[in-house]
Amino acid sequence: MKNRIKSKQYFSQAQKVIPGGVNSPVRAFGAVGGEPVFIARGKGAYIYDVDGNKYIDYVLSWGPMILGHVDSRVIKEVAKTLKNGTSFGAPTKKEIELAELITEIYPSIEKVRLVSSGTEAAMSAIRLARGFTGKDKIIKFEGCYHGHFDSLLVKAGSGLATFGVPSSKGVTKGIAQDTIALPFNDIAKVKEVIEKEKDNLACVIVEPIPANMGVILPKGNFLTTLREITKKYNIVLIFDEVISGFRVALGGAQEIFGIKPDLTVLGKIIGGGFPIGAFGGRADIMNYLSPEGPVYQAGTLSGNPVAVSAGLATIKALTKEGTHEKLDNITQALIGGLSKIIVKTNHKAVINRIGSLFTIFFSDKNIICDYNDASSCDLKKFAKFFQGMLAQGIYLAPSQFEANFISVKHSLQDIVKTIRSAERVLTK
Ligand SMILES: *Cc1c(COP(=O)(O)O)cnc(C)c1O
Repeated sequence: MKNRIKSKQYFSQAQKVIPGGVNSPVRAFGAVGGEPVFIARGKGAYIYDVDGNKYIDYVLSWGPMILGHVDSRVIKEVAKTLKNGTSFGAPTKKEIELAELITEIYPSIEKVRLVSSGTEAAMSAIRLARGFTGKDKIIKFEGCYHGHFDSLLVKAGSGLATFGVPSSKGVTKGIAQDTIALPFNDIAKVKEVIEKEKDNLACVIVEPIPANMGVILPKGNFLTTLREITKKYNIVLIFDEVISGFRVALGGAQEIFGIKPDLTVLGKIIGGGFPIGAFGGRADIMNYLSPEGPVYQAGTLSGNPVAVSAGLATIKALTKEGTHEKLDNITQALIGGLSKIIVKTNHKAVINRIGSLFTIFFSDKNIICDYNDASSCDLKKFAKFFQGMLAQGIYLAPSQFEANFISVKHSLQDIVKTIRSAERVLTK
């Protein structure tokens, strides 16, 4: 590995004209110290920085690059689309194709609308739930992230957890008052609050597999009970599958757990590396959207042809027989190896993983199952581990409160190199 002089220079240059030098907070490496790595290019499972260093990439743009960087199938479709124009502000055929593909793979989604980011999709889904039910309050879970719009910037994980900011300035009291944040996996508490607030609740929004406080797995009956009780009181249940969708299984967490939410929020993978988001679900709810219904929602670049082409190519590639099994196996090999090294080097850590999604929590606890557990981790040790791995050419998520991702391009060789690097770092 060479030094990272150019990254350092670019970061000080960037800080003069971009707040914090980055266009999204976690990129600044605030939680792990040092300067962020400026990326020059990527190929397959690897990224290369501006100083010529090569890294095995476990961030993958926070999930979208599940096929790895510069996948030939995606690039081919995008190139074809580019030649015919990049945006029209009028409908195109490919939007139907993507909507049909999503509704085929997600039986709970009868109709879907495409937007430009996960934030926009979650925000619109919440407005729709409020419009549909005529009620104002929403329940979310501590450490779950649904984008950065006002009513969900309450105990929101990730970048916010990283910086120890429980919520954000600029969010009015009035808006925050309508948001109830509860601990994930605590179904007794959820029941109690829903019984009390049922007449005021428009919706419950949840990451069925939270991945923005590190990866957390839902306990046995948590999601099924959530489904039963929201159904009983006509409260809209929204699954935010922006990360889990198409990743933990083609049909997301709802396929794995066999649960039909009323609305689903998608993003990341469905844009194949371009800006996109989507929300969809029961037709009677979706029909409340403008121009059919009274809930307004719109977007100049919604259903953008380039993003839609990349998403279509990505999803089609993922539908190939055995893709998720392969992702599962390669991730299992990595986690198995890392677990052994952690024991061998006398460290205490919990690895949470589902499919190709995982987090290593440095903690004395035996399980990490909510935001409180995640917050109790040894963040200093995590920062040292992160920097050690980076110096060995392993690019992990730069925060204890984030998920790591694996692509179909990660090979057994990459896994072995990662495990060996972890052994060296943890031994030191
Ligand atoms: C990334 C993410 C979002 C926000 O998506 P953006 O495209 O970054 O706006 C929403 N929900 C979850 C679960 C996410 O991981």
